[in-house]
Amino acid sequence: MKPDRNKTRCSESLNSSDKQEGRPGLIVAHHGVAVEVLFETGERRMVRVKRNSGHVVGDDVVVIAEVLKQMPRKTELLRRDARGGIHLVAANLDVLGIVVAPLSPSGFIDRAIVAARVAELQPFLVVNKCDLPETAELLTELISTYTGSVPIFPVSAVENSGLAAVEQFFAVGHRGAFVGTTGVGKSSLLNVLCPEIELKVGALSDYKGQGRHTTTVSTLHALSGGGELVDTPGFRDFGLVEITEDDLAIYFPGFEGHGEITCKFRNCRHRSEPGCAVIERVSQGLILAERYATYLEILTEVEKEKAELRSKGWKNQ
Ligand code: GDP
Ligand code: ZN
Repeated sequence: MKPDRNKTRCSESLNSSDKQEGRPGLIVAHHGVAVEVLFETGERRMVRVKRNSGHVVGDDVVVIAEVLKQMPRKTELLRRDARGGIHLVAANLDVLGIVVAPLSPSGFIDRAIVAARVAELQPFLVVNKCDLPETAELLTELISTYTGSVPIFPVSAVENSGLAAVEQFFAVGHRGAFVGTTGVGKSSLLNVLCPEIELKVGALSDYKGQGRHTTTVSTLHALSGGGELVDTPGFRDFGLVEITEDDLAIYFPGFEGHGEITCKFRNCRHRSEPGCAVIERVSQGLILAERYATYLEILTEVEKEKAELRSKGWKNQ
C-alpha cells in the first residue's frame, strides 16, 4: 500500500495571498482531527484534517491557509493491525530501535530487522533491563549474533544507564521510533529519553480498551542532544507489517558481509535450491549454522502464515 504522496486537503476557502505563500513545516503531532505543524521559525500551529487524511507525523508539508500539501516521503513505516489492515505509522524515519529484554520472544529481532531494512530504516538493538542479572546472558548472546549486523546498545531504563550512547546515536540527526513486545520497557525508555512525555509505565491495557475511532496521539520529540524520536502508542504494541519470503531471503541479519550473495536463481529462498550461495557459505562455516537454522525456521513460519492468510481469502499479501 502506497499512500497518495501528493494529496492535498481542502477545508476552508483560501484568500489569495495565503494561496501563494505556502509555509514549509513538519508534522510533529497527530491528534486524529488535527495535526500540529512545526515551522522553521519554531512556531507551531494546529491544522485541522479529516480522519484518514493520510498525513502522519514526520511528514514534510507546505501549509497554505488551512490546506496541507504533502511533500514526497523518503521512508514510510507501516504497521498491521490485528485484522490484517495496513496503516501508515510515521514518515521519514531513518532508524528503528528494536527493544529487547529477557523473555522477549525468539524470532522477533530478526523479523524486526528485516522489516526495518525493507522500509529502508537502519535497525539498531536496545537491550534493556541490563540492571537485572539474567540480562547478562542475553546480552552476550545478542552481541555474538548481531555484532557486524546492527548497532547494539545495552541500557537500563530504571537505572538510567547506557542511554548516553543511544542519545549519541540519535545526535547525528537520526529520526527514529522504538518497537518491541509488551513489557520490554519501551515506555520507560521514552520517559528517560524524552522526560516531557510522562508515559504510564506498565499501563498498556489502557490502549487495548479503546474503541476503533478513539484518537491516538502520535508525537515527534526533539531529543535534547539532537535527533528525534517518534512515539506512536498504536504502533508500539501492534505488529510490524509482516515480511515476505523474498524480504527475509534478502535482508536476514547474518547474511550480509558476504558481498552480493549470488545464488543461481534470482528468487532463491536459500533452502535447497541448486547453486545456492548461502547454503555454500554455511557449509564453509562463513555463515553460522545456527543463524541459518533460525533463518529456515522463520522462513517456514512466514510461508505458513502466508498459506493461512490465503486460505482465509485475504488479499494484498
Ligand atoms: P513497555 O510495555 O515496553 O512499554 O514496557 P514498560 O516501560 O511499561 O515496562 C514494563 C515493566 O518493566 C515495568 O514494570 C517497568 O518498571 C519494567 N522496566 C522497564 N525498564 C526496566 C529496566 O531497565 N530494568 C528493570 N529491572 N525493569 C524495567
Ligand atoms: Zn540461495
